Amino acid sequence: MVDSTPTLFTRIINREIPAEILYEDDQCIVINDISPQAPVHMLVIPRQPIAKLADASVTDKALLGHLMWVAGEVARQAGVEEAFRLVVNNGRAAGQTVFHLHLHVLADPSGSLDFSESTI
Ligand code: AMP
Repeated sequence: MVDSTPTLFTRIINREIPAEILYEDDQCIVINDISPQAPVHMLVIPRQPIAKLADASVTDKALLGHLMWVAGEVARQAGVEEAFRLVVNNGRAAGQTVFHLHLHVLADPSGSLDFSESTI
């Protein structure tokens, strides 16, 4: 059975729940993460509530490309285009908690967060 309950992010998109909106267009919205894991932690969220990346269909390819472009665009706007990390958690076991596809854009303008130490 398909769950028609609006997701948390759909409720943010519909302005039912407040969020710091950094960017929006006809396909997506970008907000600050409420619990940032880095000095810059933005979420790129499609308006279309695809539950997780692996649920995207072939007709969603242009949207997925657009989300990647927007990640770069908001990184430029935030002044972190030289060093940022893009993360997608797909599925609960991979750490996904909100089942509405989103890209995490993580960066530290001060350079203190050393991404090069990570295994990924
Ligand atoms: P994930 O664990 O990949 O599903 O990421 C979900 C993200 O949504 C987490 O980093 C949360 O901190 C973030 N989040 C949850 N609720 C909100 C909210 N109301 N506004 C902004 N970010 C949120």
